[in-house]
Amino acid sequence: MEKTAYTLIRSQRKTLSLLIRSDGALIARAPLYMPIKEIEAFIEKKKEWIDAKQYEAKLHSQKYKKITAEPGAMLPYLGRMRKIIKCETDKVYLKGTELFISSSAGADDLIKWLKESALALFKKRTDAFAEIMNTNYASVKISNAKTRWGSCSGSNSINFSWRLVMCPPEIIDYVVVHELAHTIHKNHSREFWNEVGAFIPDYKIRRKQLKEYSGLMDII
Ligand SMILES: [Zn+2]
Repeated sequence: MEKTAYTLIRSQRKTLSLLIRSDGALIARAPLYMPIKEIEAFIEKKKEWIDAKQYEAKLHSQKYKKITAEPGAMLPYLGRMRKIIKCETDKVYLKGTELFISSSAGADDLIKWLKESALALFKKRTDAFAEIMNTNYASVKISNAKTRWGSCSGSNSINFSWRLVMCPPEIIDYVVVHELAHTIHKNHSREFWNEVGAFIPDYKIRRKQLKEYSGLMDII
């Protein structure tokens, strides 16, 4: 596995602290004589936190507003940045934080893959939650929507923006439950939110988090 890149700043301090700059760069502030080994072990231990913070920072930086298939480019997927690796393959596949694509693939191929993954995942989650919530829906489709993550029609056809697949799984589940709750309540009444809350008790937090991902809507 690749080592996490960081900038080391040593000073007269007693403890090691990590900071993610707004451009996503990791800064390690360390005491003067703390061994590198110790610093890097700490970074390794905090990897999940670092990944999440860097993901957030990158989402807000202009650099990631366009999907590109350049080797080394980053693609947000299920709440984490995935690094594009070009190789001899005829399909797109994910291995941890690395996304392998054909040497000849372009941005269109990546978007096609995102849309296919999105549809498969959204169908699976909608089926699972429909059963738990004891409700039915007519169909699940993906849309190109840039202003909303999901919708549920009067006849219970559910649409999800394919861009939602770039959000973390728990956020996706919130949107799935939200739309399924509309098969029961066609409004945002107290009863509707009670229905959502019965299956996603922390829906208020997830709803707030979803707003933080609104930048993904602008990705093309
Ligand atoms: Zn709604």
